Amino acid sequence: MLNINLVLQSLIFIALLLIISCYFYYKRKKSRPQNFEEAILQDRIHVRALQAQDKSTATTLLISCVDFRLREETERLMNENFKLLNDYDEIALPGGALALIEETHPHWRITMEETIGLLKDLHQIERVVFLNHRECGAFRLLKGQESIATKDLETKTHQEVFKDARAKMKREFPDLKVYTLLIGLDGVAENLKQE
Ligand SMILES: [Zn+2]
Repeated sequence: MLNINLVLQSLIFIALLLIISCYFYYKRKKSRPQNFEEAILQDRIHVRALQAQDKSTATTLLISCVDFRLREETERLMNENFKLLNDYDEIALPGGALALIEETHPHWRITMEETIGLLKDLHQIERVVFLNHRECGAFRLLKGQESIATKDLETKTHQEVFKDARAKMKREFPDLKVYTLLIGLDGVAENLKQE
């Protein structure tokens, strides 16, 4: 026969447990920083870390634009689509591949070249993935609005930049494989292979 008292006691116990759990959950949540201004005040910041890697090399160097709109998509492309989690270095400069060949900013070119050389020696990278993106402010500023006025013109402009970047890579780093991608803000990355 069902013991009503025992059932009631159990229910009260479970309810109390829930209330206490909720109290501590919300107390902890409330003490967490809610934005940058709060987070930066902490003396010690705990980042959710992946498994520790016992590696000294990386297969790939990603060269991308700095644009804030594509940080998540860039990570997903490398980690989820290309399966390169913890296996790639990254250089981000305005325009991506454009920074390697841009005549008006020779210091960008030098920085890019020297960093590629350094990473090749340091991490034994085997390939470079250039990831340019559509609606790029650096292309608008350095190549002119008309160069990216339509989707076709934009593709053509990036193709030309990639062609020069590939030629330069062949001269400077002939043993590195080179890949050239153009990603849209919709997350679609087109593989602009050598014509
Ligand atoms: Zn950009």
